[in-house]
Amino acid sequence: MESEAAVEQEAANSTATQTMWCDRCGEDVATGTHDGCAAARALEPPRYCRRCRRRMKVQVLPAGWAARCAVHGGISQSTATGVAGTVGADG
Ligand SMILES: [Zn+2]
Ligand SMILES: [Zn+2]
Repeated sequence: MESEAAVEQEAANSTATQTMWCDRCGEDVATGTHDGCAAARALEPPRYCRRCRRRMKVQVLPAGWAARCAVHGGISQSTATGVAGTVGADG
């Protein structure tokens, strides 16, 4: 039975709280409310990186969007997996 050597890893060295930034308005998520941002984010791509607050390079794709932070890489979303707008009751 082979034993894997313990990989050197930074053990519990990150006690500092990482500030999270709103990916839409770029403000501290702990400050104020971002309900409107969250609602808008459901339809729009992010504008700021949540981790470093950098402006993300947003690319609109035929099937969704892709946003990239120069430091933390990119994320993408496809509208193919998104839910269609729910139609309200006919009044
Ligand atoms: Zn916000
Ligand atoms: Zn970033």
